[in-house]
Amino acid sequence: MKSKKTLGLICVILTLFLSGCGPQSKAEHRTDVVMGTLMQQTLYIQGENDNITREIFGLSDELEKDFLSKRVEGSEVFLINSRSGSAFRVSDRMKEMINNCMQVSEASEGAFDIFHGRLVQLWDIDSAATKEVQDYKPPVKTAIDEALKTGGYQNVQMQENALSLQEFCLLDPGAVGKGIALDEIAAYLRDKPEITGASVSVGGSVLVYGIKPDKSPWCIGITDPFNKKGQLGFLEIKEECYIATSGDYERFAMGNGKVYHHILDPATGYPADNGVKSVTIVSREGWLSDALSTACFVLGTEKGLVLAEEFGSEALFVTADGQILMTEGMKSLFRQTKP
Ligand code: AMP
Ligand code: MG
Repeated sequence: MKSKKTLGLICVILTLFLSGCGPQSKAEHRTDVVMGTLMQQTLYIQGENDNITREIFGLSDELEKDFLSKRVEGSEVFLINSRSGSAFRVSDRMKEMINNCMQVSEASEGAFDIFHGRLVQLWDIDSAATKEVQDYKPPVKTAIDEALKTGGYQNVQMQENALSLQEFCLLDPGAVGKGIALDEIAAYLRDKPEITGASVSVGGSVLVYGIKPDKSPWCIGITDPFNKKGQLGFLEIKEECYIATSGDYERFAMGNGKVYHHILDPATGYPADNGVKSVTIVSREGWLSDALSTACFVLGTEKGLVLAEEFGSEALFVTADGQILMTEGMKSLFRQTKP
């Protein structure tokens, strides 16, 4: 009798061990609109906790409203921009974001620069793209030159938490916001041991966290920049990382038979035109993947590949003539979709 009981107990322990220690994780999905784009969550949760996807949406929404938004009155970015021309005491979180971004600005010789908010505002591709404008008129050259002169990280001073922007220099964190949201989501997930795995995407940026219940690699699709409903291939991911893509197909306006997209080259003041259709970056931090995808898009393939490696990241470029160029590390992650 006793030995039967012992045998039963051994069977239970063995079953638990083989099924990955503990009860099977259940999948939770949720889709919301955050930062003007789609946020999609898939979380694998052990036990009961139905609030987590809602809390993740809540913290992303709060991050936008309190910190990153250029439009919400009272957000930190809004307050900084409304005091452009005078000194402003920023939060530690803002100090960290600005210092991080400045490193990428310096390394990319200004190709990436979150202090060209006025230039971005002048082009205003975001609202033209939302309205699907077909008769878009680009800004005049004198206005572009003026925005270039007053904007840019050279017109910014940071000493500890004291930030001072030259008059008319505006902060636009659009190129890193999604990545910062993913960094905050990952920090939140690390405090939740019941989450065994997660993939969260905000627009073109994705966080891959933990493992899937069947322990197979995560497959993250890469959009075909020539047909945004299709996929170029996918990345096979086995460990926590952040994947960001910047492409000319994401937001653009049409006018004079031309397409004007949303990633601007501070060297010219016009949409970047270096023969790149899209760039995908894999990094260990969300903000970095997002900053590098924008920076590499502006820099083009040659300098972009060097920049990505300088920051310990992998890059995949799709060029305007349809070539795919990758860092060595990216080659081991990328799988071409079967025809
Ligand atoms: P992303 O889609 O991450 O490449 O970010 C593009 C957004 O970043 C644009 O919609 C602008 O708000 C902003 N932006 C455009 N050009 C640049 C640039 N050269 N450096 C930094 N931010 C930029
Ligand atoms: Mg970006």
